[in-house]
Amino acid sequence: EAYLAAIDRANPVLNAYVTVTAEKARDMAKASDAKLARGEGGALEGIPLGIKDLFATEGIHTQACSHVLDGFKPRYESTVTTNLWADGAVMLGKLNMDEFAMGSSNETSYYGPVINPWRRSRLDTVVMPTTHQGDGGFVSAGGTKTARTLDNAQLVPGGSSGGSASSVAAFLCAGATATDTGGSIRQPAALTGTVGIKPTYGRCSRWGIVAFASSLDQAGPIARDVRDAAILLKSMASVDPKDTTSVDRPVPDYEAAIGKPIKGMKVGIPKEYRVDGMPEDIEALWQQGIAWLKEAGAEIVDISLPHTKYALPAYYIVAPAEASSNLARYDGVRYGLRVPGKDIIDMYEKTRAAGFGREVKRRIMIGTYVLSAGYYDAYYLQAQKVRTLIKRDFENVFAAGVDVILTPATPSAAFGIADEEMASDPVKMYLNDIFTVTVNMAGLPGISVPAGLDGKGLPLGLQLIGRPFDEETLFQTAHVIE
Ligand code: GLN
Repeated sequence: EAYLAAIDRANPVLNAYVTVTAEKARDMAKASDAKLARGEGGALEGIPLGIKDLFATEGIHTQACSHVLDGFKPRYESTVTTNLWADGAVMLGKLNMDEFAMGSSNETSYYGPVINPWRRSRLDTVVMPTTHQGDGGFVSAGGTKTARTLDNAQLVPGGSSGGSASSVAAFLCAGATATDTGGSIRQPAALTGTVGIKPTYGRCSRWGIVAFASSLDQAGPIARDVRDAAILLKSMASVDPKDTTSVDRPVPDYEAAIGKPIKGMKVGIPKEYRVDGMPEDIEALWQQGIAWLKEAGAEIVDISLPHTKYALPAYYIVAPAEASSNLARYDGVRYGLRVPGKDIIDMYEKTRAAGFGREVKRRIMIGTYVLSAGYYDAYYLQAQKVRTLIKRDFENVFAAGVDVILTPATPSAAFGIADEEMASDPVKMYLNDIFTVTVNMAGLPGISVPAGLDGKGLPLGLQLIGRPFDEETLFQTAHVIE
């Protein structure tokens, strides 16, 4: 009840939830109470969670915050959420996100931007828009349009899991599910002062998660601290016959790793992450992180990941290529929106033209271009080769005895809604992922942990990158920083 009341109060401003399942939450909570009264119950019994709108939830709107999935209510439940409910968790509702998880600011959502509960301490002189997508207002979950005024102290929560990060930071849920294709768990966690972990590719089943880029997508939690993230990931992770890329190895007790000393651990500091024009605040935070780990007895070593600079361009070939293929299924026949046309081709075209937002269309166009016969070798094939080199960089470093790598999580703190620079140049927005995409390209686990504030008092995060399936070391080390 406390969480539902908090959602009622804060969601009209934060726009973190697109669907609130109050009745279902109460039913699930009652069932949990009964279990607990009998001395039974799972690891998450009665814990209220928010679910990113990318996860299929049976009988409940699942739209990936896209217009094209209007009204889609799956008849099945994702494996990750099935695991959470089996452990007793309670669903509060579905969380806002960038459309199809494409974005770094949660501004591409059909349901309007999510607001970060952290605000600028002073009002800057910027003119804020009052409408989204230029169509006269925000669309709320019921499909009704409302004009919502933003103020210029308001900041983005990052993306694409902006609703997950904002709701956890504002106490609108105890924890949330999220997904990360190039940084969508770690970047919003960093920008909201929360903890987010993208586990190793294959650790969580992708079954029932709306696909963006299938070789990069992974689910993981956003939580208030490292321990909560460990408990949630333990429940979310599983091998699943319905996802052949999920991996059959036992899920360790991640919580047990927390509090273990890191004395003697080898922490790598990659020189290529010291990018041109890195803000002083970020550099200082990184140095502070190094000092904390050293103080706790870790050995700090300089390392090189030479192909880092190719990661972002290669990601923005591989991810759109896979997206263009995955998004071909939204044809007006099988799911959601249908705009009638004079024949079936006309219906496809009208449905897709009306159903997808600008960023999604941009990705489809890039994706089909790099996969087209004349350009495949020059772009897609080349990007796949680069991906192998990036993976090898990490393998070499871990083979040389490095246990974990420490980097900043993001190149800046939270920025303003409708930031002019980002809005006018998509590549500026893509630069948000500069420290996070390599991890997805290599399939490795990465965690973002709040580590301090910038000069304006906004949260900043540090990232730890580990060996495949060594999430335990990430939790252990992140706990020293938090
Ligand atoms: N910001 C990146 C993109 O837009 C990553 C998104 C994600 O991880 N889902 O592709």
